[in-house]
Amino acid sequence: MDNSCTIKTIGIPKLHSPLDAVQFIEDNEYVLLNPVVKILPKEAERPFQGVSQQRPATPIPFDTTNKNCFQKAGPRSRIFFDSETVQVGIVTCGGLCPGLNNVIRAIVNCLNYRYGVKKPIYGFRYGYYGIANKDYISLTPEVVKDIHNLGGSYLGSSRGHQDSKIMVDNIIELGIDILVTIGGDGTQKGAHQIYEEVTKRNKQISVIGVPKTVDNDLAYVDRTFGFETAIEQAQAPILAAHQEARSVYHGIGLVKLMGRDSGFIALHASISSGDVNIVLLPEAKFTMEELIEYLIIRFKSSEHCVIVCAEGAGQDILPPTGQTDKSGNTVLQDIGLYLKSEIPKRLAEKNIESKVIYIDPSYQIRCCKANPFDAAYSTILAQMCCHAAMAGKTDMIVGSINNQYVHVPLLKATEFRKKVDKNGTYFQAMLDQTGMPEWLDLIQNRKNPNPEIASPEPKLATL
Ligand code: ATP
Ligand code: MG
Repeated sequence: MDNSCTIKTIGIPKLHSPLDAVQFIEDNEYVLLNPVVKILPKEAERPFQGVSQQRPATPIPFDTTNKNCFQKAGPRSRIFFDSETVQVGIVTCGGLCPGLNNVIRAIVNCLNYRYGVKKPIYGFRYGYYGIANKDYISLTPEVVKDIHNLGGSYLGSSRGHQDSKIMVDNIIELGIDILVTIGGDGTQKGAHQIYEEVTKRNKQISVIGVPKTVDNDLAYVDRTFGFETAIEQAQAPILAAHQEARSVYHGIGLVKLMGRDSGFIALHASISSGDVNIVLLPEAKFTMEELIEYLIIRFKSSEHCVIVCAEGAGQDILPPTGQTDKSGNTVLQDIGLYLKSEIPKRLAEKNIESKVIYIDPSYQIRCCKANPFDAAYSTILAQMCCHAAMAGKTDMIVGSINNQYVHVPLLKATEFRKKVDKNGTYFQAMLDQTGMPEWLDLIQNRKNPNPEIASPEPKLATL
C-alpha cells in the first residue's frame, strides 16, 4: 500500500485561476505532522527529532514520500478545470453530523461566486444511493442560501453498499468532472473505490472528500467539523444528570455520548463540564466489579455521582450483538441501558440503595445546527475542497494539522482511527478533574513514578 502523502492529480493544471487578491499556495508547501522538536546541546549538529507522546517523531529533512508531512491546502494559481464547463456533484453519506449543511452551502457558494462555475451542481439524495439511482437535485446559491441554519443533511444520507461500477456509469453519463464525498471512513473508502473505477476507465474525474466524523477519530487530522458542537450540546444533558443525581439519595446521573471506537466526545465533554465523576471510554477497559467498588468508595464522601459513558465503552463486558448495519459496521451493545439496570441491581446486592437517572442525547446532538466554531471550520474545509478539486487533485480529503489546512490521501485518512491517548494531556486532565482512579489496564502500564507519594484516590480492592 502506498503509505506516502503524495497527492495525485488528474492532469497538469494549465488554466489561470479566476481568483484574485489571494495568496496562492504552491504544491511543494508541506505541513509537518509533529511540530515539536527537542534540541539536545551535544547533538545540535544532528537533524532534529520530534518528541510527542501523541504523534510519532518527525525526522527532517523530508521529501514528499515521507508519511509525516502533508501537502498544504489552499488556492492554486493554475487550475485544471474550466469554470465555464465544469460539472460538480456532491453527496453526503453515513450518520448525521453538525455542519453538513455548512459544507454543502460553502461548496456551492465558493464554486459559483469565487470560481464562476456556471452549471448548477448535482446534489445527490440519500448518499451513494442517489448516485447509483441518479436521484439528485440541482444546487445553486439561491437553493442553499438558508441551509446553514438547519441541522441534518439537506441532501439526505444513507448507509448501505452501492456498486461502484454503476455509480461511475452514472457519474460519466451525467458528465460529472468533480465528485465531492462528504462522509466518514466508510464514505471515503467508497470514494477511493470510485476513484479506482474512474482511473480504470481513464477518465479525468476528480474525487475529493470532506471528512465527517463527529467522534473526531479521523487519522492524522487535528479536528473534524461537528466535534466541538457535540461537546457543547453534551453540556446540558450532563448538567441535567448532575442536578437530578444530587436531588435524590445515592443518585447516579448516567449520560451516554457518541464514540463507537474513540471516546473523544465523552472525554472532552467531561473535562469541560467539571461535574463528571466517572468517564467510561472504549479505550479504557473496566469491569463491573471495579465500577461498583468505586461507586461504593464515592458514596462514602458524596451522596451522588455523575457517569459519562461513550457508546463504545465496556463492549468487552457484554456479549457481542453479532449484527452489522447496512454498511457493515458492527452493531454495538447498548452499554447505557445495561449500566442503567445493572448498577442499581449490583448495589442492591450489597444492600446499597441507589437511583440511576439515564439520559441518552445522541440524536439531539448529531442532528443540530453547527455552533459558530464548527460553522466557520466546515466552511473553510469546503473552500479548501473546492481549491483542491478545481486544481485537479484527486483521491484525497481536506483536513487540518497544527492549524494548517492540508491534503490527505484517501487511503491514508482511512488507515486507522485516532484513539484517546491514555498517557496524553486530555486523559490526564480528565483524571485530575474527576479524581477517578486509573482503571486496571492503565495501572499495569503506568506505575507511580514516586512510590512515596500516595495515590490521591484509595486503591480499588479488586486491583
Ligand atoms: P459514519 O461515521 O456515520 O459511519 P460513514 O461514512 O462511515 O459515516 P457508513 O454507513 O459506514 O458511513 O458508509 C457510508 C457509505 O459508504 C455507504 O454507502 C457504504 O456502503 C459505503 N462504504 C462503507 N464502507 C465501505 C468500504 N469499506 N468500501 C466501500 N464503500 C464503503
Ligand atoms: Mg462508518
